[in-house]
Amino acid sequence: MAKYLVKYDRTNCIGAGVCAAASPKFWKMNYDRDGKADLIGGTPKEDGWEEIEISDADLEEMRATAEICPVNVIHIIKKDTGEKII
Ligand code: SF4
Repeated sequence: MAKYLVKYDRTNCIGAGVCAAASPKFWKMNYDRDGKADLIGGTPKEDGWEEIEISDADLEEMRATAEICPVNVIHIIKKDTGEKII
């Protein structure tokens, strides 16, 4: 069951690529489009952000990826409390 909401500010991704290197399960560089990262399985929003729900099993991988993103465009929110994890 999904417990965390991942919100990705794709507009402000600088295409550094460390997310895709660290976590290819969730991140893929889109060199055909604009060189930014795509959140695999994510839902694009009208404001340019993408969202996906993840479970406990994927939390640490996603958190580690968010921590190494040089521009901090990956955020994780705990769904039941609204707590911002990163
Ligand atoms: S690490 Fe951050 S800035 Fe770099 S490609 Fe991934 S989301 Fe974009």
